[in-house]
Amino acid sequence: MNPTDLPPIVIAGGGTAGWMAAATLGRFAGRKVLLVESEAIGTVGVGEATIPQIRLFNAALGLDEAEFLRETQGTFKLAIEFAGWGGEGERYLHAFGTVGHGAGVLPFQHYWLRARQAGKAGPLSDYALNDVASRAGKMQMWQAEPGKPVPDMPWAYHFDAGLYAAYLRRYAEAHGVERVEGTIASVERDGESGDIAALVLDGERRIEGGVFVDCTGFRSLLLGGALGVEFMDWTQWLPCDRAVAVPCETKGEFTPYTRSTARKAGWQWRIPLQHRIGNGHVFCSDFMGEDEATKTLLANLDGAPTADPRVLKFTTGMRAQQWSHNCMALGLAGGFMEPLESTSIHLIQASIARLLQMLPGAEVAPAMRAEFNRQAEFEWTRIRDFLILHYWANGREGEPFWDRCRAMDVPDTLSTKVETFRASGFVHREHEELFTEPGWLQVLIGQGVVPENYNPIADAMPEVELTAMLARIAETNQRLVAAMPDHAPFLRAHIDPR
Ligand code: FAD
Repeated sequence: MNPTDLPPIVIAGGGTAGWMAAATLGRFAGRKVLLVESEAIGTVGVGEATIPQIRLFNAALGLDEAEFLRETQGTFKLAIEFAGWGGEGERYLHAFGTVGHGAGVLPFQHYWLRARQAGKAGPLSDYALNDVASRAGKMQMWQAEPGKPVPDMPWAYHFDAGLYAAYLRRYAEAHGVERVEGTIASVERDGESGDIAALVLDGERRIEGGVFVDCTGFRSLLLGGALGVEFMDWTQWLPCDRAVAVPCETKGEFTPYTRSTARKAGWQWRIPLQHRIGNGHVFCSDFMGEDEATKTLLANLDGAPTADPRVLKFTTGMRAQQWSHNCMALGLAGGFMEPLESTSIHLIQASIARLLQMLPGAEVAPAMRAEFNRQAEFEWTRIRDFLILHYWANGREGEPFWDRCRAMDVPDTLSTKVETFRASGFVHREHEELFTEPGWLQVLIGQGVVPENYNPIADAMPEVELTAMLARIAETNQRLVAAMPDHAPFLRAHIDPR
């Protein structure tokens, strides 16, 4: 069947999720795409830090990186710094890319653990290129050979999500997506199949479609509301339920990493953009009120606030199915995990990739829907485990919120991972998991989970070779980083090459 003969795809909501979906479906689906959004309702207005996969998304759309950074006031991101999670004054980075590039047959940590036990290893951070570059405030790419990035040094972005949505809107409309301004008043379902038949807007306009994509944010009007898909609440493991956000002035000397600083009952984010710094304090309302959370945030800014602080309420968890009947949810409509590892925009992107791979034609195939839901649940729950680890393995003794986090029962999928790591430095990872072995390693070690042993095969390497290998990796990182430009001038030259 010619795709143009199929009923339209209707996207409900025009936040980051809605316009990311519109841009890709407009570009690739070959059929009519409508997007309904309400200016009166607006968007959630946060969401500024990403992980390197975002570059694949932009590349699939053919976006030019310099233009994208100009349009979204974006900066480069090589890592996330976690300050105070292992205890006051402690800090570590979760840097993108590998740790110990060029090690032996085993994953690097086994050699590092052996050398560490003998008192001959430096801190893990010395062996991760992005970590060394982040701490030096450097950005990589074109210093070695023009146009050729240093291999194994992935980067992501910080950007203004509102500007990104506006940029994607222009792209989507240029690719034929029709935007309908209006407020969805009700959702009409087919009496026989129960599928969604149409969105009914204020003023009784009806928007009919074949496939509906719910991007209505926390409201989840279609999947949660009309179709009644249950919400799986993860508050028991991810207990924060509020955030207060405020932008502040920047002096233009931005770090190439996001900062996450542990506070009394939660943590504070700092995201440097070209035109401002995004800040927010995520906290648990059982342990802290909104006034105290706001005060703490305002007392810890690097510049004067440029807007009033705004409180957002949320519940961590996900909808039990991300695709029900003929409706898929993207973004906050499908659930929310707090922004600790910058995964929300990535989850939108991952669902869009699945949607493109499994897009139904005239009929929905139940097997496809089931597979979509299996993949989504797997992805969400493994990310959830990674986030829980940050709370569970905290070192902030004597603070009631953090004491409670350390005492919680965690999912088996996480406790097994931590036990095997503790026993022998082994990181068990199933191949579809988002976070890599170096990612788990940095957070585990950074939060004080140090293995009692390592794989004995590491002992097969002669000691002199082991010492030389560690020295070579650390020295190579130092040498590469010493030749790199500072982040801010690099960015300026990149976005405005004149
Ligand atoms: P929204 O932006 O809320 O958009 C919903 C859309 O639906 C709007 O267009 C609205 O007008 C429309 N709508 C709703 N109801 C109706 C109706 N009745 N009729 C018509 N239209 C309607 N993600 C990251 O990746 N990195 C981060 O650093 C990050 N930080 C975050 C910090 C906080 C505190 C929170 C809460 C989230 C954060 N996120 C982050 C998540 C990120 O904000 C979202 O994933 C992203 O913005 C997508 O939002 P959305 O499009 O799903 O929802």
